[in-house]
Amino acid sequence: MTVRVGISRCLLGEPVRYDGGHKLDRFLCDIMGRCVEWVPVCPEVECGLPVPREAMHLTGTPENPRLVTVRSAADLTEQMRTWIAGRLNELEKERLCGFVFKINSPSCGMRDIKIHDGNSLQVRHYGTGLFAGAFMDRFALIPAEDETRLYNMDIRKNFIERVFATARWFHHSTNTDL
Ligand code: SF4
Repeated sequence: MTVRVGISRCLLGEPVRYDGGHKLDRFLCDIMGRCVEWVPVCPEVECGLPVPREAMHLTGTPENPRLVTVRSAADLTEQMRTWIAGRLNELEKERLCGFVFKINSPSCGMRDIKIHDGNSLQVRHYGTGLFAGAFMDRFALIPAEDETRLYNMDIRKNFIERVFATARWFHHSTNTDL
């Protein structure tokens, strides 16, 4: 039984971050990676942005966040949303059993992402990154965590149990369909 789990690509050590760096997570890469097949996703690169690229953040409101570059105030929201719509359709076919998101990213962060007031430094709201929010809306039953919550052993154990329960469910439903 193959257990496919989505992951923010920079957590696997791939240099896709805006500054050309990565955020390799040893537990995910070396240990959890032995039990699951990672499906890496980098929304910012896959939607057509280069490496390196200008840093970006969220502006607006939690209901209608905008993805905007910090220095030149370029609004990348529609470019990202168009890519998200197609990528979520592809990911549906992958039958992902979970997703591990990168914390603090305006694209991948699943919680507590700063939403700035216009392009100022002032933060008025917190929300979710554009991709993470859309993924969790579309696949509400698929377990999702970010890498720092998985430092907690109880949360880690619970997440892995839910991932494998989802895999068993997919496996069972596929075999029942045949
Ligand atoms: S946090 Fe997400 S968008 Fe940013 S580099 Fe990592 S995978 Fe790409």
